[in-house]
Amino acid sequence: MDATQVLIVGAGPVGLTLALDLAQRGVRATLVERNPTSIQLPKMERCNARTMEIFRRLGIAENVRNAGLPREAPMDVFLADSMAAREALVHLPYPSVAAAKAAIAANNDGRPLEPYQLISQYTLEPLLRSIAETRSELTIRFSCEMTSFVEDEAGITATLATDTGSERIRAAYIVGCDGGSSTVRKQLGIALAGQGHIRKLRQALFYAPDLYERIPMGKGRHYHIATAPIFPFIIIQDSTKHWTLHAAAESDAEAVEIFRGALAMDVPFETLSVNEWTQHLLCADHYRAGRAFIAGDAAHLVIPTGGLGMNTGTGDAIDLSWKLAASLAGWGGPALLDSYETERRQIGLRNVRASGAAMDGRTTWRAAASRAEMAVAFDAEQRKVTEILGIECGYRYVDSAILCAEDGPAPDPDNRAYVPTTWPGFRLPHVWLDDRTALHDRLGFGYTLLQLGHAPADTSAFERELRATGAPLDVLRVPDATARTLYERDLVLVRPDLHVAWRGNAPPDDPRGVAATVTGRSLVLQR
Ligand SMILES: Cc1cc2nc3c(=O)[nH]c(=O)nc-3n(C[C@H](O)[C@H](O)[C@H](O)COP(=O)(O)OP(=O)(O)OC[C@H]3O[C@@H](n4cnc5c(N)ncnc54)[C@H](O)[C@@H]3O)c2cc1C
Repeated sequence: MDATQVLIVGAGPVGLTLALDLAQRGVRATLVERNPTSIQLPKMERCNARTMEIFRRLGIAENVRNAGLPREAPMDVFLADSMAAREALVHLPYPSVAAAKAAIAANNDGRPLEPYQLISQYTLEPLLRSIAETRSELTIRFSCEMTSFVEDEAGITATLATDTGSERIRAAYIVGCDGGSSTVRKQLGIALAGQGHIRKLRQALFYAPDLYERIPMGKGRHYHIATAPIFPFIIIQDSTKHWTLHAAAESDAEAVEIFRGALAMDVPFETLSVNEWTQHLLCADHYRAGRAFIAGDAAHLVIPTGGLGMNTGTGDAIDLSWKLAASLAGWGGPALLDSYETERRQIGLRNVRASGAAMDGRTTWRAAASRAEMAVAFDAEQRKVTEILGIECGYRYVDSAILCAEDGPAPDPDNRAYVPTTWPGFRLPHVWLDDRTALHDRLGFGYTLLQLGHAPADTSAFERELRATGAPLDVLRVPDATARTLYERDLVLVRPDLHVAWRGNAPPDDPRGVAATVTGRSLVLQR
């Protein structure tokens, strides 16, 4: 029987991100995918800033950008009567990747290190797969379906169905990144709660090579057509020659006619695919049972308005990855794996809420009585979809047993605007150092104790206690004034996933207790 450390079920973007992060940490993983090839459908189109930061840490951000929408392409959003309209009813300008990168380089105000990137799911998945296949720690198997698994004290045994028959594989842990109909979730008997089957839509993919150059109102990524009752929604894909339409069409043929009508100009196009999909706002009751975990769409299903589907899933992947690695390496205490559900389910629930709010906004402007009212409502409501950096990057883990909580009023984690902070549980904000390198790029894959300012305290006792847990620790002196201002304290302990575990202006009074808490060993210590 084959054996691996972690069995990942599903080679969608979440399973592949988890596999790459585990490999980076030296964990052996086998990833099984029931389909013979990666996805052929566009589905998601935008990696948000947080996902791009994650890809940067994996060393693949530039690969993703090179495969995605050209860097100079604007990301503007329009409401217009048709694609042929000379003037938009509303035009919301958003910077191209090149412009956003220039703004990030020119400012040191804690904004995320990477901007978004438009890349179609049918481009991203094969790219991630091709990179994963180069990692010696990973075994990637397509046409290989996980049909069931059993757990015992030492691990799990899964049954796999392949073209040549059935086989079994042994692993210490299994992670279901197997999408909305997750076999792993169903086998664990975990229910989804919320609103299911809200409405059905069709997504159609077209090849229209001349369209991009012929849109009179200007180049962008989203075009909402103000025609009731369908309100066709047209999205550019990464090649700039492919386009998708989202609309409540009754048939595939009707979807094509809606696209033709929305163009309102004589431009050649070829229909490549039409698919029906269903909107849900659901979150799983649990993310873990014993040695089994679920992540990505297996754990939460959102309406893609707001782009919080895959982007929430990549966050799950990197929260879980280091905890699995720590448990396998022996230094991670029991609270570490327990904290995965505490930390990520609250984000799943929050992002389900945020995407519901984004969808309500869309419903609001579509219900407007006049063109003028629609334009005003669109201007306000559409920003709930496109201006949510706080939701994307400003999330905080609340009531997590592996964080050293602070008293006092914490920054609002539901703020749509991003406010950089090192409050425990938040992602460490990006800061440029005086030598123009990014602090994020200096952080390794273990814990990092940042000593900020000019007169760092003696942290040797704290370091000793942290190292005594067996956890990898770097200590980084950062005298740069901007970093001290942005990071709000003299000492900040950063976790392997770049979330803040503890902070203070002096070493903790109980360094052993803090070390035990952040490594999930508090209970071990109490025994
Ligand atoms: C129209 C549309 C637009 C979207 N736009 C965005 C967007 O802009 N941004 C965003 O973040 N999200 C977006 N999403 C959501 C995004 O597509 C999903 O959130 C994302 O695909 C989830 O990734 P995943 O890896 O969790 O699951 P999936 O992509 O569903 O992958 C699961 C994989 O598991 C495999 N599998 C299932 N069961 C088994 C088994 N038993 N054994 C082996 N393999 C198995 C499946 O074949 C599949 O390949 C959009 C979705 C839709 C439908």
